[in-house]
Amino acid sequence: MRPALFLDRDGTINHDPGYLGDPDAVRLYDGVADALAELQRDRDLPIFIVSNQSGVARGLFGREDVDAVNRRVEEALAERGVEVAKFFYCPHHPEFGEDCDCRKPKTGFARKAAEQFDVDLRQSYMVGDSECDRLFGENAGMTTIMVRTGNGAERLKILEKEGNLPSFVADNLADACLYVQRELKS
Ligand SMILES: [Mg+2]
Repeated sequence: MRPALFLDRDGTINHDPGYLGDPDAVRLYDGVADALAELQRDRDLPIFIVSNQSGVARGLFGREDVDAVNRRVEEALAERGVEVAKFFYCPHHPEFGEDCDCRKPKTGFARKAAEQFDVDLRQSYMVGDSECDRLFGENAGMTTIMVRTGNGAERLKILEKEGNLPSFVADNLADACLYVQRELKS
């Protein structure tokens, strides 16, 4: 059993224009790919990208568009030496009567990844920019990290008032990678 890194996609790895369905609109945040590559270089650390893509349920784009965006993100990361073990996304939304176990903060995908890749969730990390990411990580027993990119800065203000902060707050995903690296060493 080994630790893994779970990442939200939009607002964490790449800029979030809202309902991203066009691969040509994918723009990674600066420094993210290199930081992930550095983290992965000397460790057997699978990376999973888990996102809620309710744009599918809303009819804004199709599953093939989500796949195309994911492929673009995968390619952009691979160019810098980062290997993504698997992309997971939930196309559902409860508003449309779709009850699923895969929409974050539900932990369906965390359990699936753990089973398929021999991952210990208790030793793993979840990084995201929203409350559902933090809860997903917490519900799955992971260490939770929130970034200030995407919706993070705004959400963190609210969470701070409520006393619902994650294990660690990072300026961005590169900063979060440094934290994970330190934690894994200790
Ligand atoms: Mg996000």
